[in-house]
Amino acid sequence: MDITITHSQIKEAVEQAYNECKDIKGGHNADYIPFLANIDPNLFGISLTLPDGTQFNVGDTEYKFGIESVSKVLTAILVLKQQGAEAVLKQIGADATGLPFNSIFAILLENDHPSTPLVNAGAITACSMVEPKGDSWGKWEAIINNFTALCGSEAQVLDELYKSESETNFNNRSIAWLLKNYNRIYDDVPMSLDLYTRQCSVGITASQLSVCAGTIANGGLNPVTKEQVFAKDLAPKITTLISTVGFYQNTGDWLYTSGIPAKSGVGGGVLGVLPGVMGIAAFAPPLDPAGNSVKAQAAVKAVMNKLGLGVFNGDRVTVVAD
Ligand code: GLN
Repeated sequence: MDITITHSQIKEAVEQAYNECKDIKGGHNADYIPFLANIDPNLFGISLTLPDGTQFNVGDTEYKFGIESVSKVLTAILVLKQQGAEAVLKQIGADATGLPFNSIFAILLENDHPSTPLVNAGAITACSMVEPKGDSWGKWEAIINNFTALCGSEAQVLDELYKSESETNFNNRSIAWLLKNYNRIYDDVPMSLDLYTRQCSVGITASQLSVCAGTIANGGLNPVTKEQVFAKDLAPKITTLISTVGFYQNTGDWLYTSGIPAKSGVGGGVLGVLPGVMGIAAFAPPLDPAGNSVKAQAAVKAVMNKLGLGVFNGDRVTVVAD
């Protein structure tokens, strides 16, 4: 079916979703990273970006929160760009683990590769694959410049979050060394882990994340800066990874009920990509037991339902200004 949606319908859907979801209770801030436990749990924002650059924002969309696991998407794009889709498949993989994001068990089960760049193991491997190899500073420049290009504006590490994460990331240290044991780290181990920790500690706004989502939805062309950040044929690759594992062990339920591939982070962010139509981001700190923001999930789902959109609906969607 051909369906047409107007800008005012989108604006209304985003505002209604915000009003309906703002009082939702439930969930807890992540507390295994001490810094995150102290973030105001009432913060909440929704941001939607269209391929023409129009953005709809409601709530706390300029608050800089920890990007956490949503960063895995951005660095997976960098590695896809630098090394190609085939290398990512071969050296990391593209399979869901069906297990929590920080699972060590998943590594033992999949002993030929760490499964996907969107769980901790694969994301640490992805950091090890970033070029220039062996050059910590050069690799970080590549990672953060890629964040800026995707989000359309600069993003910086939240120093206190980085410190808090570095001091408490014992599970990730185990993952990194276990990967090394299986020859799945392609650079220095502590360096790869540190780059991963640092990228998770980047402060990002919902508005920036929705530009990033919009860039993926728009085939790599940033809707705001008009820069072609990555080649169009990589967009379905990254969206596949998001679809299959974006919410970890809850990904199937999520896609089934929301109709949009999305990636979460324990900072409370969710980034959703509807190819060719829009990018959306929502942010609220309290998380469900799988580490996905309770309110941000509800908000993205509400926007999708109100607009009658779904990645598998088979509709040709046209968005028009009014
Ligand atoms: N930095 C966090 C970690 O490695 C990210 C996890 C997440 O957001 N799901 O545990």
